[in-house]
Amino acid sequence: MLKINENYQKLPGSYLFAETGRRIRAYEAAHPDQEVIRLGIGDVTRPLVPAVTKAMAEAVAEMGTPEGFRGYGPDFGYSFLVEAIREAEYTRRGLQVESGEIFISDGAKCDVGNIQELFSADAVIAVTDPVYPVYVDSNAMAGRAGDWTGEKWSRLVYLPCNAENGFVPPLPDRDVDVIYLCYPNNPTGTVLTRAQLKPFVDWARERGALIVYDAAYRAYVTTPDIPLSIYEIEGAREVAIEVNSFSKTAGFTGTRCAWMVVPETVCGLGADGSRVSLNALWKRRMATKFNGVSYPVQRAAAAVYSAEGQAQLKEVIAGYMDNARIIREGLQAAGFDVYGGVDAPYIWLKVPGGTTSWAFFDRLLETCQVAGTPGSGFGPSGEGYFRLTAFNTREKTIEAVERIGRAWG
Ligand code: PLP
Repeated sequence: MLKINENYQKLPGSYLFAETGRRIRAYEAAHPDQEVIRLGIGDVTRPLVPAVTKAMAEAVAEMGTPEGFRGYGPDFGYSFLVEAIREAEYTRRGLQVESGEIFISDGAKCDVGNIQELFSADAVIAVTDPVYPVYVDSNAMAGRAGDWTGEKWSRLVYLPCNAENGFVPPLPDRDVDVIYLCYPNNPTGTVLTRAQLKPFVDWARERGALIVYDAAYRAYVTTPDIPLSIYEIEGAREVAIEVNSFSKTAGFTGTRCAWMVVPETVCGLGADGSRVSLNALWKRRMATKFNGVSYPVQRAAAAVYSAEGQAQLKEVIAGYMDNARIIREGLQAAGFDVYGGVDAPYIWLKVPGGTTSWAFFDRLLETCQVAGTPGSGFGPSGEGYFRLTAFNTREKTIEAVERIGRAWG
């Protein structure tokens, strides 16, 4: 009989959202007259903007004509989308990224998981803590995380981020091969300045490490001079791969389109000790295992960069960020220590009274009928913190914050 990949058996259950969902449903069943407001939503809620749906509909119609029909697309994405991304996200900002370094995919989640195929089985991985769980679990599936101890993975290097260090991760205290960074950060909603990011790039260059930089929330940055791309940091083209997505930028969570930048200058070590370009390996991998994102979806993604698309999306993002402001200011007024929410749709708060994240989850649900996400679900350093998100409606967000203000203010 087939022997399965035993690393899957080491994974703890995907407990976090299953458990928050279970507790919310139990509360609702016991209190059918009360409305629970969900500020734990990690998905966008507003519809695709008209510029995007128009482009998608036109592309679908094109596909139904003999002249417009298209079969398999180019392995790395249609040039109309690659060039639109290159121009708007990089060239216009003075950043060097070549067309052959941009790869269109069906999601940032897939990209951060798939890129590991290029890493050796024993590569040492560092993650910020708390963290977007995909980096951890996907490396655990590949056997790089070691064993689950009930709180941590034995082979992962954790870089704790907390109020004490201003949510700026320390550099790894030992050699690692890969560092995952995500800015604007999920779950803390915090960002790094160029000066805070630079030491990571310098460290990676000195030690020969790779940085996987997840910029899925770049569209939410409002503070001037906060880097939107790792390539704003000198030397990053030698050591960093950048993961991006249309999911949170343009509401594509259900439509699926993303891109990854793998510079030709980023190298790993071959078996014979030679330097091998990750870009060449990634091209080989994509050509072998991927048949591209559908033509209508790539057309829809390209419409994000049209003048109408940009104007319409600006309004959508501003709406989410206004919710973030409402939560941040409301909680501060109620006496909470609040982080994030300025350059990201996530608000990270310190649980009052020194209780656990889960105890606060229960208390918030019971006293305010507001649901969020316990910080401990994102890693050991998340204990004592709590995540709220800006993705609910403005009305529900205001109502939730008023309830919290009445209970705590
Ligand atoms: N990266 C981060 C940090 C995320 O929070 C998410 C989704 O929540 C993703 C990537 C997933 O992006 P995509 O929808 O493109 O797979």
